[in-house]
Amino acid sequence: MTFDCFKLRPSILEAITAVGYTTPTPIQEQALPLALAGHDILGLAQTGTGKTAAFALPLLERLASGPRGHLRALVVAPTRELAEQIYDEIVSLGSKTGLRAMTIYGGVGKNPQINRLKRGAEIVVACPGRLLDLMNDRHADLSKLEILVLDEADRMFDMGFLPDIRRILSQVPSKRQTMLFSATMPTDIRKLADDTLTNPKVIKIGLSMPAETVSHALYPVPTHLKTNLLKHVLGITRTGSVLVFTRTKHRAKRLAQQLEQMGYKATSLQGNLSQNRRQEALSGFKAGRYDIMVATDIAARGIDVSSVTHVINLDVPDTADAYTHRIGRTGRAARTGDALTFVSPEDASDVRDIERAMGEKINRVVLDDFDYNTPKPAGDILNQRPPRQPRPGGAGRPQSNRGGGGNRSNTSPGGGGARRSQPAGGRSRSTR
Ligand code: AMP
Repeated sequence: MTFDCFKLRPSILEAITAVGYTTPTPIQEQALPLALAGHDILGLAQTGTGKTAAFALPLLERLASGPRGHLRALVVAPTRELAEQIYDEIVSLGSKTGLRAMTIYGGVGKNPQINRLKRGAEIVVACPGRLLDLMNDRHADLSKLEILVLDEADRMFDMGFLPDIRRILSQVPSKRQTMLFSATMPTDIRKLADDTLTNPKVIKIGLSMPAETVSHALYPVPTHLKTNLLKHVLGITRTGSVLVFTRTKHRAKRLAQQLEQMGYKATSLQGNLSQNRRQEALSGFKAGRYDIMVATDIAARGIDVSSVTHVINLDVPDTADAYTHRIGRTGRAARTGDALTFVSPEDASDVRDIERAMGEKINRVVLDDFDYNTPKPAGDILNQRPPRQPRPGGAGRPQSNRGGGGNRSNTSPGGGGARRSQPAGGRSRSTR
């Protein structure tokens, strides 16, 4: 199937070609005809499946005809990073439509956003808090909204945004097209969907695509040797872009600094960074200026870097849901990727949760050439087991709509050495 099968105008088809998409992903195949026909959509899918284009293309097609100069489509997303990514995709796919898009989120000045609203952007991609601010100050007028998209609704719920979402919903016209996407369907999201969508068409895309292309492995290791093991693995594995997850901001920052000192092009993405530094880290990682990004879950939510070859969980994610989200960063859109999770004996119950949710046991990998018996040095703070982040009311537990995946090929690293910055080997990569 090609994109020509859908009723998209030539200017949008040209942009799809320019972006380099040739074949629609499963969610696009399912969602496009329905959304183009004007149906409400309930999409059970997560990032990595191509869901952004699945809602962006119908949105652009609808807006390409009709009035200009006022807000007609709103996409609400949980994080600034995700909002930026959605915005980028809308701008790329809509490059020949003349429609104007903008982002609205906190942590940056309000005035540029107010000015862009005044100039009459037709599409807004927003995080809930700042959008509400601007609505309350009467800068953002949603009274002529035609399309509303709620993306990663479960994550917005986890982050406590549901009351904000409901306030936003109270100010949009009831006659509109709504698309709601969520990786999981807890009761509150089901209720939100019931309240928000009219006769929705339900589209369910499991983890099938990323899972097909991602191999998982657990690396048992004492907590105090995790950093050593990471360095060892990086040394013996041929990697592209590597995303390392830690449980705390401090650990992310320290580890990135250590890797930098070792000559790796590494950066961190964690909540303590200013908006500018976050953006610099993210765009640097996307553009290949950094080979390794060490991130925390919240900071890395929705990161879309197609060239991520390895996700390394230095700390086991708190929930199986967080695990699938983390590994969704690699193997995106049919590329292959490896997900390595370092597990210490204390992680046993988290590992059981993850395996239960994946429906399979994950391979354990023990490396012959790594010394697992090095004793713990005195005063080793970095390699202590970090505290758990609080779970909001147990939210974010795995839901039954998860796709399969799990125990695929053994991902024991092999092949050439990891790249360090000194040889400065040039490398071509695409960010999309
Ligand atoms: P998303 O799930 O929207 O975050 O998309 C995941 C990745 O797939 C992004 O890097 C997109 O640019 C890419 N992508 C989306 N649709 C397609 C497609 N039809 N062909 C190839 N790549 C795609």
